[in-house]
Amino acid sequence: MTGHAVVIVGAGPTGLMLAGELALADVDVAIVERRAGQELDGSRAGGLHARTIEVLNQRGIADRFLSRGKTGQNAGFAWFPLDISDFPTRHNYLLALSQKHIERILAGWVDELAVPVYRGREVAGFTQDEAGVDVELSGGASLRADYLVGCDGGRSRVRKTAGIEFPGWDPTVSHLIAEAELAEEPQWGLRRDINGIHSLSRSEDGRTVRILVTEQQVGRTSEPTLRDLSEALVATYGSDYGIHSLVWISRFTDMARQAASYRSGRVLLAGDAAHVHYPTGGLGLNTGVQDAVNLGWKLAQVVRQTSPESLLDTYHAERHPVAAMVLWNAMAQVALLRSDDRTDALRDIMSEILRMDEPRQRIAAMMTGLDIRYDFGDGHPLLGRRMPDLDLLTCNGGLRIFSLLHEARGVLLNFGDPGRLDIAPWADRIRLIDAKSPGALELPVIGTVTAPDAVLIRPDGHVAWVGDKAGQNLADALAKWFGPPASVSNQMRPSSVGSAGVARTAHGKI
Ligand SMILES: Cc1cc2nc3c(=O)[nH]c(=O)nc-3n(C[C@H](O)[C@H](O)[C@H](O)COP(=O)(O)OP(=O)(O)OC[C@H]3O[C@@H](n4cnc5c(N)ncnc54)[C@H](O)[C@@H]3O)c2cc1C
Repeated sequence: MTGHAVVIVGAGPTGLMLAGELALADVDVAIVERRAGQELDGSRAGGLHARTIEVLNQRGIADRFLSRGKTGQNAGFAWFPLDISDFPTRHNYLLALSQKHIERILAGWVDELAVPVYRGREVAGFTQDEAGVDVELSGGASLRADYLVGCDGGRSRVRKTAGIEFPGWDPTVSHLIAEAELAEEPQWGLRRDINGIHSLSRSEDGRTVRILVTEQQVGRTSEPTLRDLSEALVATYGSDYGIHSLVWISRFTDMARQAASYRSGRVLLAGDAAHVHYPTGGLGLNTGVQDAVNLGWKLAQVVRQTSPESLLDTYHAERHPVAAMVLWNAMAQVALLRSDDRTDALRDIMSEILRMDEPRQRIAAMMTGLDIRYDFGDGHPLLGRRMPDLDLLTCNGGLRIFSLLHEARGVLLNFGDPGRLDIAPWADRIRLIDAKSPGALELPVIGTVTAPDAVLIRPDGHVAWVGDKAGQNLADALAKWFGPPASVSNQMRPSSVGSAGVARTAHGKI
């Protein structure tokens, strides 16, 4: 049986990002994807938010996306534009780029990292035991893995087979989204009426029309058809404008659900498999990519046996509250997009509030992911937050912090006397950089804070420890996030670990 340390189900944005993260850590990872190629039918995500672009920048691949998309200054909340040009980030904008391009670029990166992708294969089921997971593929083949990660979308088979509950809220609104040709000139543009939101716009080819229409009925589960679309158009516009030649069609709703647990033994969930919600505000893909970046380095360390399995529990502890807030935020947007006099009154008030600086910054930080703080206890405002991409001055010249994260390894920045911090037992996992203190730094919403004497940055860019002159508790923080010191962790490793510390568990041939 073919084996891999990690098998990822799904080559959507989440699965691709996770595969890249694991490959950077030299983990033997493979993806199983139902689609024969990376082509995507229909329209899904339309862009990347600031924190996601930062995360891609941390790996040195943001330019691949920036060169293909268009930047805009506004993040949106329930269609209220929120200017983020004053945000302290190198990416104080939204990148408009369709999901098909995002996936294509990520797939290219994963390909460069030589991750095998079993395309046109479907995961039909799995069973896990104490040592690993047997993954059944359609057509009778199977794979053995140490860990299985379900990045297989909202209807996740992995989640269902693992028996993980998916509690939440049933839909209150249902939309059809499609591309087709119209025989007659329609009413172009956005429209909000008592039934909800609708939009008709020309496609890039000028021939077909992009259609978004709210259905009269919520709760249909059959595959949508041209007839459903025609009926919804007639109900909204009084005409279906002679619709014909359907290119693609899909249905989405405001159902909001989240996996009760992101882990069941050796099975983990990420992206839409772990959380689904209404797409307005564009948080789904962005949250999935950031799930992957939180999970990747942790899973790599557990697979390599430098960290205990309990490190994986921090994935749920950190990411479940983030997506719970995303669901809540999406539900608030659905309420604000309803169309009646009371909602209009509320929108007027919201519009006034969001023109004020502090509310605008708070909501925009939430929409862009720049406000995320993992709860590592009290301390310096940086603790648990993302480290900004500062320009640093070192004895070897200038560098940017994100450039230190390209290999997805931890970094200890020492702004005190050079050579005062000793990380020798973790030197295989952490880079120590002595740099001149920036003095102060700017955080979104929070403002200017004094730079600490030292900062321990995890591979996902979040600050795990903030130091004082004495470097107190540094060894504890290093052990917590990067595993026991080398002399101890060497004893944990299997005999197949090579001199470079890369664990390749014995799986039979690949
Ligand atoms: C209309 C619409 C607009 C949206 N707009 C935005 C937006 O602007 N911004 C944003 O951030 N998000 C947006 N989203 C959400 C975004 O599309 C999703 O959040 C995103 O695709 C989730 O990525 P994923 O990789 O987790 O899952 P998916 O993209 O669903 O990928 C799952 C993959 O798993 C594969 N798969 C499934 N089951 C199996 C199996 N059993 N075996 C093998 N392979 C399998 C599938 O083929 C698929 O490739 C939108 C969604 C919709 C519907």
